[in-house]
Formats: sequence, structure tokens, C-alpha cells
Amino acid sequence: MKIAHALRLAGEGLLSLLYPPHCAKCRADTASGVHLCATCAEEARKVTAPFCRQCSQPFEGALDGEFTCSNCRDREFHFDCAVAPYLSRGVVRDFIHRFKYDRDYYLRHPLATWMAEALDDERIRAQPFDAIVPVPLHSARFRERDFNQAEVLGELLAKRAQRPLLHALKRIRYTTTQTKLDREQRMENLRNAFRVRHAPSVQSRHLILVDDVFTTGSTVEECARVLRQAGAASVRVVTVARG
Ligand SMILES: [Zn+2]
Ligand SMILES: [Zn+2]
Repeated sequence: MKIAHALRLAGEGLLSLLYPPHCAKCRADTASGVHLCATCAEEARKVTAPFCRQCSQPFEGALDGEFTCSNCRDREFHFDCAVAPYLSRGVVRDFIHRFKYDRDYYLRHPLATWMAEALDDERIRAQPFDAIVPVPLHSARFRERDFNQAEVLGELLAKRAQRPLLHALKRIRYTTTQTKLDREQRMENLRNAFRVRHAPSVQSRHLILVDDVFTTGSTVEECARVLRQAGAASVRVVTVARG
């Protein structure tokens, strides 16, 4: 365990002794181990049907049966589906942001609880999976943040699902921020950014690839591509939220 990580955990333990448990959003008192009061928890917006089977993009309006959104319709994917229990809005987006950039590390607990709802999704239940693979951070970014949010969330999901966390991927290229790029440019920017560490560990395995948010899907698509190329039987994506 890295020293920074150990200190953070120790600090968290001390803080929880000093301060009574409270809601991370409105600071109302809560039960021990609860990070969100009932009122704020209700603000988290779930992804509800109808939504795109491939990317979980909700469809506004009435629709019967399965559908694929216009963004996914003409594309080939290397992952079977991307499951996101919540929309990246309000308290969900706020917690993800605070967790990643403000170092509110304890927020991994409510985020992992939201993420774990994906395990009940019919697309995940339909086929057992062998391992959970986090989207890796480049070592340079890891040094500035000193944790990988996907790995932290993946570890908690792995515990709940009682499956191993597999560090199957390595980020070998530092990519510039993707926010200003369109879909084609993103895919180009990500090409050869990842590689599989040890192909035999993913061969014929059904994998769950974990990240915090699914936005355009370019990053998880590139990860899924190299995993399938290395022989993974299937890749399904799980995130806390749909951007
Ligand atoms: Zn609250
Ligand atoms: Zn879609």
C-alpha cells in the first residue's frame, strides 16, 4: 500500500472518531456509515427504461421494448453493453467530482453503492463474469492524483460481487484531455493508449470493465478492443453514472 493511501485511510478513521456521521451533501446527521441522508439520496437520478441497450442513454418519452440510440446504431463495439445505474447530474456528478478532484476519498463508499446497483441489471445478470478490470490511469496522472478512481471503485465492486479485481490493462500513452475532441478525434487520440499486461489472464474470460462515468464511451471502447484482441470472451462496462 502506498504511504499516501495508508495516511488517507488513517486520517479518515480519525475524522470519523471526531465528527459524528453526517450527509456529505447537506451535512444533516445520519446513521453511522451512511454518507447521504434520505432527502439527498432521493435527488440522485436513476437511469430508467427506456434506455439504449448498448450505452444506457435514456430515451425521453414512451417506447416499448429494447432500443438502440442513434449514437450507437451505426457503430461496432467491442463491449457488449455499458451499464450505468445513475445519470451524471446533481449529487451524483458532484460526488464524482469531489471524489476525483477534491480528494474526498470517503465518497468512494456512496459511489460504490450506486455502482453496485449495476449488478442487478439484467444485462449483467444474464451472464456470470470472471473478473473486474479497472480502466487504468497513466502513471503521470496517477502521481498527481495518487489514486485511480476506477481502481478504487472496482475494488469495492469486486468485494461485493466476490470476484477478483484484475489489473489487466496498462496505460502506455499519456493522452491529452478529451473534452474538446469529437468522437473520431477521441478514438484517434486513444489509439494504442492501452495494452494488456498479461494476455493469458484475460483469455476466454468474461470481464467487467469499470470506470466512474460513461460519456462518449471512447475510453472504454478502446480498452474493450485491446481486451478482446488479447482473447477476452466478453467485455461489459459498468460505471456509476451515464454522462
Ligand atoms: Zn442530505
Ligand atoms: Zn446508445
